Amino acid sequence: MAQEIITVREQIAWSYANLARADKALQDGEQKYGRMHHMIRAKLNKGLREQTMSMASLYQDERLKMTVPQACYYCGSISQLTVDHLIPRIKGGADESDNLIWACRSCNSSKRDRDMLKWMIDKNSFPSILLLRRYLKIVMRFCESNDLLDLKLEDALKQDLPFDLSILPHIFPPLAELKLWVYPEDKNTESNI
Ligand SMILES: [Zn+2]
Repeated sequence: MAQEIITVREQIAWSYANLARADKALQDGEQKYGRMHHMIRAKLNKGLREQTMSMASLYQDERLKMTVPQACYYCGSISQLTVDHLIPRIKGGADESDNLIWACRSCNSSKRDRDMLKWMIDKNSFPSILLLRRYLKIVMRFCESNDLLDLKLEDALKQDLPFDLSILPHIFPPLAELKLWVYPEDKNTESNI
């Protein structure tokens, strides 16, 4: 089913709806999408487009953050953790907790001020569900407070935004390759540094 996408809102909605479908399937421990998962995607996509639904609060993510041991959100390393801005401060990313995640020094210096999604795609990787959800929520909030949601996507792409709306994922890797979050690695590989 091809989605017709004209506005920024529709672009974000379809990405978030696909994320919710993957999230539910992973939570259910499924390897394949079932009818219920497709329904969740369709319902959320419609609701976000028609503004009868909103993205769930970050509460669930915050709770996860408490239960998941501290580790780099990108690679799971538990050594040399630093605080990383999902949307770089230099590009207008806020210093608020939603925008802050743990990153190891290695990932942090590899990513630098690049957009998280762009950086991950460039290195042939895909963010965890938890990370992508935080990211999409921040993108949504940014577009909302800057009155971008009802702009045509093609016009928004001409603006100098802190993220690239054109690469918001609509097609996800197979469920077997997706993770809800990156588990902390059990060995401390850099312990001798
Ligand atoms: Zn890392």
